[in-house]
Amino acid sequence: MNNSTLSRRHFLSGALSGSLVLGAPAIVNARSLSGGALNQGMVPMEHGSMAVTAFKDSSIHSYQSPNLTGCVTTHIIETPERLIVVDGQRSVIYGQEIRRYAESLKKPIDRMIVSHLHPDHWFGAYQFRDVPIYSLKQTQEEIEQLGDYFIDISKPSLGEHVPPEKVIPDTLIDDGSSHTIDGLTLEYSHVTDAESDNMLTIYLPNEKVLIAQDLLYNNCHLFCGHGNFQGWQKNLIALRKNTSFDLVLPGHGDNTGSRQSIDDALIYLEFVENVYAKVNTGDELKAAILERYPSYMAASLVDIQNLFLFPKK
Ligand SMILES: [Zn+2]
Repeated sequence: MNNSTLSRRHFLSGALSGSLVLGAPAIVNARSLSGGALNQGMVPMEHGSMAVTAFKDSSIHSYQSPNLTGCVTTHIIETPERLIVVDGQRSVIYGQEIRRYAESLKKPIDRMIVSHLHPDHWFGAYQFRDVPIYSLKQTQEEIEQLGDYFIDISKPSLGEHVPPEKVIPDTLIDDGSSHTIDGLTLEYSHVTDAESDNMLTIYLPNEKVLIAQDLLYNNCHLFCGHGNFQGWQKNLIALRKNTSFDLVLPGHGDNTGSRQSIDDALIYLEFVENVYAKVNTGDELKAAILERYPSYMAASLVDIQNLFLFPKK
């Protein structure tokens, strides 16, 4: 592990305020938080922020990268005995920040789970390459095939913050399977043709939490680079009918995901699909999106999306 450029003192103060929030009796039940009070648990760190949601027997620590880099989330599930990391970050700096935060919790890191192929979620596997890394078989294959390419095209913008090599998930997760770890059950679903062609969602029945990752965004621009408008909408309509969760954690934006964010995403996708059918350039699409959604975060995702929707000939 490289020596981090993070300030240790600053980091520790962030982690300390995190534990203070965790100890506050107000944050006990996701049911009461899904209405929007969760922001009160946000802990600023040197780069990203950390929100801690405490349940009876577990906690979820939700990291979010800054707006400029897409508000990408990483979730650390803390069971009584260990930690499970869901997704990493694109930049080495954020990955190191999360690793240090995880170590400050003083429990062994049991595993990392990677939700899908996009580099903002798996580059950070590099910081956790010493633990088993789980994913769908399709995601493992996609990273194996495209990982080096993603690292290469990220070098001009990220420079030294790109991981030095790809880390391919080494343990497979099947659709419909589950793990029970320290009494906490994780139920896995393989979602297809949505934000990415293959995605994993994780449902925690004990806590009634759905970790949706990039199936859902919250007040952020959705990455539509795969052009799976219909498939993604179909998946979101199914999600809207799903009444098993009280809290849904998105892959981009605050972890205050709700049924409202599902509706918002459906409207957003329909809008972008319609404009995309009419315009000829990425600039036109971007202008229309920014005009319709001036307050949405993660605008950089629109530029990345347009590279795929309007490939250079
Ligand atoms: Zn993402």
